[in-house]
Amino acid sequence: MVLKFDEKYKETLINEWETLRKYNKGMVHLLRDLSLFAQKTFSKDVIITSIFRTEERQSQIYESALRSGSIKKVPKSAHSVWAAVDLRTQHLNDYEIKQMCNFIKRHYDKTNDYKIKMGDRKYQNSNTVIVHEIDGYGRHFHINYTGPTILINWSRETETAMRCHDYSGEVTKV
Ligand SMILES: [Zn+2]
Repeated sequence: MVLKFDEKYKETLINEWETLRKYNKGMVHLLRDLSLFAQKTFSKDVIITSIFRTEERQSQIYESALRSGSIKKVPKSAHSVWAAVDLRTQHLNDYEIKQMCNFIKRHYDKTNDYKIKMGDRKYQNSNTVIVHEIDGYGRHFHINYTGPTILINWSRETETAMRCHDYSGEVTKV
């Protein structure tokens, strides 16, 4: 198993994963594909930290950002409609984070029906994934996706991942 759950919230996340499988098959497949990619490309796990969120919980999370003035209002959460999942970044380096973002972008941006709004994009030019930090909650991947499941050509995939890596270690856009 290369797709894991945050140990701290494991039981809750396992229950939510079962619900996600009913409501959002596209997302479940995306995460399985991403974990396979991370395993094949750099032997790292994909760790889910958050799936479902109530509006009340959303307000709590953004409370300090709201108080400090870094945001004007609490954003509506795609997590409250089973359209978003958060993943840990702490065990990954910058190169691996970029590779994972590029993987999601090149396979899922086209068919995504629940696009991340322009204003929210920071880390890379994708409508499916951002890497962001909420005050006090650390940096994480936030993935929005509803849409069809995608068939990945894994033999081509490894070549593409290799091509993205130039000598300076920078990841070029694909
Ligand atoms: Zn999120």
